[in-house]
Amino acid sequence: RLVPAGAGMGLVLAFVIVMLARRQLALPAAIRAGLRRHQFHVAYQPIVDLGTGKWVGAEALVRWRRPGGPVISPDEFIPAAEQSGLIVRITDRVLELVMNEAGAFLASHPHFHIGVNLSSADFHTGDLIERLQAATGRASLPPGSLMAEVTERGLLDKDVAGPILSALRGQGFPIAIDDFGTGYSSLSYLESLPLNYLKIDRSFTEAIGTGAATSQVVPHIIRMATDLGLQMIAEGVENSVQRDFLLERGVQFAQGWLFGKPMPFPEFVAMMDEQAAAVRAAPTPS
Ligand code: C2E
Ligand code: MG
Ligand code: MG
Ligand code: MG
Repeated sequence: RLVPAGAGMGLVLAFVIVMLARRQLALPAAIRAGLRRHQFHVAYQPIVDLGTGKWVGAEALVRWRRPGGPVISPDEFIPAAEQSGLIVRITDRVLELVMNEAGAFLASHPHFHIGVNLSSADFHTGDLIERLQAATGRASLPPGSLMAEVTERGLLDKDVAGPILSALRGQGFPIAIDDFGTGYSSLSYLESLPLNYLKIDRSFTEAIGTGAATSQVVPHIIRMATDLGLQMIAEGVENSVQRDFLLERGVQFAQGWLFGKPMPFPEFVAMMDEQAAAVRAAPTPS
């Protein structure tokens, strides 16, 4: 043999490391180009009232499609966007798209809201409130139409996030704590924030009915949210066992594949109409 096996492995490893590093370096540049070339769009996932089956809102989820390529999931590029600060431009693009696509719909459906995901960097621009007001103001919407979704991670800097959230709440923007249970916020911290909704992370919904240790946490989260006076939205509801469990324990709202996957807005509206007709035909779902 010309090359001993160990050296071969080393080369393979070095190659993999170089490729990974290149990818990390290339990503911000590609995101920047993607923003310029309008490669980002938004998918809308229904948020439903578990008691009535009615669609009461949506979550705006960003998608990235490069020409000829597959749709890239946010989990693959949001971390790089957050590290590079580009997330702020993505947030602005999402706001712009939501207003263009759904602004008229929101104006004619006053109790409907669309959740937009905000990152920690969005709280550090100094003008988050103005950015959100500008978005809703352009389409002349009541601020209740746009819900701010923030994760525990996004709220780590309490001195920055606290006053901004209070101001947002004062302006009438509903606020949801997202992916709840995956972070480390203390009860007293949560209590100090002006929240409206608590979104139960999908990892907990997934565990319902499985007997997994995680499933034991769900009732605690529900009790805590109730104590804090927060309404709950369960994420990732995929089957009726999960839905019934949540409904029986007083969780009002949910989203997940059982009700609808994230989809383009025209499809969303068509499906919402069908859903409303079905609810009218069977006014008391069990
Ligand atoms: P998230 O805010 O917790 O969004 C919910 C995620 O769960 C979405 O993944 C959605 O497609 C997925 N999901 C919904 N229902 C189900 C279900 O029944 N089963 C399963 N297995 N999955 C379900 P997505 O769209 O890939 O987004 C992933 C994460 O990326 C989001 O988690 C959010 O943290 C982040 N993200 C998405 N869009 C944006 C954005 O515009 N800005 C920021 N900052 N973050 C975003
Ligand atoms: Mg979210
Ligand atoms: Mg979430
Ligand atoms: Mg989640």
